[in-house]
This record gives sequence, structure tokens and C-alpha cells, in this order.
Amino acid sequence: MAASKSKGAPNLYGSFIHSAPGAFLAGKLGLPKPETLRRYAKGEPPLPGPVLLGGKGRTADAIRNLLSDYTFAETPVPGTKYGALVFDATAIASIDELAQLFEFFQPAMRGIAASGRVLVVGTTPELAASVQEQIAQRALEGFTRSVGKELLRGATAQLVYLHPEASASATGLESTLRFLLSAKSAFVDGQVIRVGKDDATAPADWDRPLEGKVAVVTGAARGIGATIAEVFARDGAKVIVADIPAAGEALSATANKVGGTALALDVTAPDAAEKLAEFATERFGGIDIIVHNAGITRDKLLANMDEGRWKAVLEVNLAAPHRITEGLVARGALKAGGRVIDVSSIAGIAGNRGQTNYGASKAGVIGMVDAESPKLAEHGITINAVAPGFIETAMTAAIPLGTREAGRLLSSLYQGGQTVDVAETIAYFAGPASNAVSGNVVRVCGQALIGA
Ligand code: NAD
Repeated sequence: MAASKSKGAPNLYGSFIHSAPGAFLAGKLGLPKPETLRRYAKGEPPLPGPVLLGGKGRTADAIRNLLSDYTFAETPVPGTKYGALVFDATAIASIDELAQLFEFFQPAMRGIAASGRVLVVGTTPELAASVQEQIAQRALEGFTRSVGKELLRGATAQLVYLHPEASASATGLESTLRFLLSAKSAFVDGQVIRVGKDDATAPADWDRPLEGKVAVVTGAARGIGATIAEVFARDGAKVIVADIPAAGEALSATANKVGGTALALDVTAPDAAEKLAEFATERFGGIDIIVHNAGITRDKLLANMDEGRWKAVLEVNLAAPHRITEGLVARGALKAGGRVIDVSSIAGIAGNRGQTNYGASKAGVIGMVDAESPKLAEHGITINAVAPGFIETAMTAAIPLGTREAGRLLSSLYQGGQTVDVAETIAYFAGPASNAVSGNVVRVCGQALIGA
């Protein structure tokens, strides 16, 4: 199975709307038209145009300094298409001052390029200095998510909350800025990311940020896991790809493709952590990054569910990642400065009919991120999760036609995502410059209405 090719089923609406009669009808009836999203390609500029930067808070200068290779503009020029509108909202400390959002964005909204970006940078509301500031900063979330729903042609909107004690140079913010203000975040929309106060060191090469790192990806024989392995290898990591013994052939194919090492490993085995720790320590001297991607569904309405389905899903998706993380840390196999990345799902946020087992497991994954983030911080390790929405894989190709088309269309981007979209988000968490990013759950769902 080719790892980078999505296994998606025919996209009926997408094909129709791009045909001559479809495009005609779309224009007449105002039907949504999915944009071909701009995705990362080495050597291409990160954005489809210059950045219009507004706001006079504590991060505006830092943003300009950190992104010195980007082109910035301060005042909108009519007719210009901007690659991004970025607003430093950290100076907004009262309800009245929220008017600054209107003043900056309203005149600029029509100037956003296709696959452009809106980015608002605020201060973590829970850590704000006053009641007024906390209210105003929290309001940024509703503003940004609503902007995301209004944007057209593959443009997206995100909010980043920076810790109030971050240094003036705000270097801890750079990896997040570079991810969100690039084609790598193509299918991430309407998200809120919290960045801590620590400074970060930029990698020597932003095109190979994982150079010298050892990464483990579970469930890497196919689908999202195989693409994570590819993106990690592209970014310079040595990759250990793990999957169940029965997936051996596909796993070897992934390993060959990425120049990685295959490990037959059932994550539910009681000695999985021990086996992984021994393997990685002997061959590579330890692990820098672990991605708990292996996952299964065993759908049934709760009334019809047997104990086997319940147990299997909870075991693979939740108990195993928890046990393996703890086991690797206890053995010292996951190095200081390590990264743990879990794979949740929008079903774990909103619930899904027929998926009480899966929804419980994927919500548990979010609990794991919340609970382990402060504990792992003591070892200099971060933990974050992605929550994919509708991603074109063998898993979603098996969904009945009507539900499948609805899953694709009911999002701000009117389409399903690609496995690479999930992988790019994971690679952002995995990067050495993301040390101030922990405890986040980022949905990779094109701002899906299902699961909102
Ligand atoms: P997939 O079924 O294509 O791949 C999952 C891989 O995990 C397979 O190679 C499988 O052999 C492996 N695996 C299963 N049990 C294992 C075990 N006990 N030990 C080791 N490996 C095991 O699925 P996918 O669509 O690529 O999904 C990857 C992850 O993303 C899963 O955690 C899934 O729940 C999550 N996810 C997917 C979507 C989507 O739209 N495809 C949406 C939300 C979340």
C-alpha cells in the first residue's frame, strides 16, 4: 500500500463541483466549492503573499524578528492579496479594546489570498492580569473561530495564546508561527494553541528540524502512521516504524520507503514498553519522539455492543499508549527533551453514534495529555495530541456513501483532509523548537461542523 497516497473513496461532490455543469450550478445556487489546498513543497514560499501585521502588543516586534524571511506590510494596500493577516492582540486588556479587532480585520477581509491565513496572537486568558483582560482575551476565541467559518477559498484562521511571562523575544512562539503561517497547516482551521513561557532555539534548518532525532511511530504500516513516518524522514529523523506482526509486509514497505527500521510490536502486549525501550536503546541510544498512532474502531450501538469490542478499542487506543509512555519514561528510554504525541479524534470531543467505545478512548487520550503534561514537564518532555476529523484513508473509505459525503462537506473547507495534514501537525509538535508547546489538542479537521 503506497503510504503517501490517501486511500480515499471517490469524492463525488468534489468531482461534480469542478466539472463544467457543476461549476455553473455552484455559481447559480451558491454551492460551496472546495478549494485545492496549498500544501508544503520544499522551496515554495510558506505563504501565497505578504503578511499584513497589525496590533501593538508585546509580540508584534518579536513576530517580525522571528520571521525575518517573510515579507511584512503594515497598512493594507487596496488590490493586494495578503498571504496572512496577523494581529497581535496581547495589548487588548478590556472589552472596549476588542474594537481593535474590528478596525484591523474588517477592511482587510477581502484581501486574503486563496489558502491564506488569519492569525490572532493573544495572552493565555487564565493567566491574565485582570478580570477585564481575561474576559477580553477569552473573547478572541469566538472571534477567530467565527472568522474561520467566513473565510473562503481554503483560507484558515487560528488563535495562539502566549504565556504572559514569555520573554520579549518570544522565541518559544516561533515553531507555532512557522507551522500556522505555512502550507503545512492546510487542514488545521479554527484552532487555539497555547504556548508556554520558555524560550526555544531554532533548528539549523527549518526544512530539516528533526535532524539527528530518533522517532517511533506505532501503527505505521499504512494510513496516517505511514505518512507520519514519511514526513519525519523528510524532516531528518531516523524512524522506527512499529505495527502488529500481521502487518509485517506493509510495515517493511514503509520502513524501506523512509529508510527506517521496522519493529513488529503489538502495542497491547504487556511487555510492549520494555521491548520498545530495549530495541531503541540498543540500536539508537534511546528515543526522542514517540507517536501513539496505532488505533482501531469496533463500531456498534451501545445496546448491541459486546464486551470484546469495548475492551479491544479501550486497550489499543488508550491503555496501551498510557502504559508505553510511562514505561519508556520509567526506563529512561525517552530522553530529556523528548516528545510524546497522541492521536485523538473529533469523536473524542463531540462523541459519535455507534462509537461509545472509540469516543471514550479518544476522549481519554485528551485526559492523558492534560494529566501527563505537567508530570512529563519535570523530565523536559512535552505531550500533545492531534484530533483528526475526516481524513481520506482506508478507515473513512469504508464509511457509507451519504455519511462520507456529509463528513467531507460539513466543514469550513468543504473537503476531507489528507494523511499528510495530520502528519505535518504531528511534526510541528515533534520539533525541537516546540519545547514551549505542551498540553495542547489540535484538531486537524478543516473546522468540521460535525464534532464541533
Ligand atoms: P488505519 O486502520 O489505516 O491504520 C492503523 C494502523 O494501526 C494499522 O496499520 C494497524 O495494523 C495498526 N494497529 C492496530 N492495532 C495495533 C496494535 N495493537 N499494535 C500495533 N499496531 C496496531 O487507521 P488510520 O486511519 O491511519 O488511523 C490512524 C490513527 O488516527 C488512529 O489512532 C485513528 O483512530 C486516528 N484517526 C483517524 C481518522 C481518519 O479519518 N482516518 C480520524 C480520527 C482519528
